[in-house]
Amino acid sequence: AKAAGKNTMRFFDPAMQKAVSARLRLEEDIRRGLQAEEFIPYLQPQLDEAGRVVGAEVLARWQHPRRGLLGPGVFIEVAEQAGLVEQVDFQMLRQACHRLAVWRQSPATASLSLAVNLSARLLYQADFVDKLLQLLELSGADPYRLKLELTETMLLDDMPAAVARMHQLREHGIRFSIDDIGTGYSSLAYLQTLPLDQLKIDQSFVRELPENGNSLAIIRAICALAGSLQLEVIAEGVETEEQHKQLQDIGCRHFQGYLFGRPMPLDEFERRVTMAPEE
Ligand code: C2E
Ligand code: CA
Ligand code: CA
Ligand code: CA
Repeated sequence: AKAAGKNTMRFFDPAMQKAVSARLRLEEDIRRGLQAEEFIPYLQPQLDEAGRVVGAEVLARWQHPRRGLLGPGVFIEVAEQAGLVEQVDFQMLRQACHRLAVWRQSPATASLSLAVNLSARLLYQADFVDKLLQLLELSGADPYRLKLELTETMLLDDMPAAVARMHQLREHGIRFSIDDIGTGYSSLAYLQTLPLDQLKIDQSFVRELPENGNSLAIIRAICALAGSLQLEVIAEGVETEEQHKQLQDIGCRHFQGYLFGRPMPLDEFERRVTMAPEE
């Protein structure tokens, strides 16, 4: 009886209870925010070897009426656990597609692509393919300009279903990038069975450049793998000229990171890409 009493005590620990109710409040707040369409895309430029902006990654932000602008660190995990992250993702997809449709109308922006992060939950929805194709059609976006970023761990839950969906979408032009490659413990053999276009070198490896020999070896291996599979490679988290240079030397041709621009509001990104280069 004494032991049970202890357990009960621990269960009703006021600090823990406070944390639980804070989480529930956040969950409710996310639901409300989704209804009110408070989740907006920030865009981080992606550059090619010539330093031209060729597109952007869409990074979710929560424009909270009281708390201000919140990053995904505040809401993605809770949204995932509450089964709400697919709604966040889909709101990003919707806004990305509408932007791509607008960009299509003007020569300065028509060739830009947008990369949207996808959670496993969305990819595993039975009607995801239909919903996305419908969204593309309704919005008038060019499917070839939409890239979906997946992580390797999310694919392993139900490979066959994921692969089938990816093939269907790719037939319509949508492209795929594998985010966080090399950070999981999975075999890389599965990569050749997927309809991929790009591998993304995680910032955890780039961060260690130029000193860390292990990171360098991993980045080299990813670039070699991409070369033999004929995939594009992009490095994220590039913060210094030195890192940029070293990545170029290894054969990486696409870049993203604070060195080239932080995630920014849509209009700011548009100003940047339509501005005449100052030279
Ligand atoms: P991620 O997909 O790996 O995105 C890259 C993160 O690195 C972003 O953080 C970005 O702002 C940050 N970053 C970019 N360049 C640099 C750099 O040079 N140095 C450093 N230190 N960091 C850099 P953010 O925006 O806070 O997003 C964090 C994570 O949240 C993302 O990691 C992604 O996993 C997730 N996320 C963001 N938006 C969405 C979304 O719409 N849906 C889903 N499911 N997840 C999202
Ligand atoms: Ca990403
Ligand atoms: Ca990443
Ligand atoms: Ca990540």
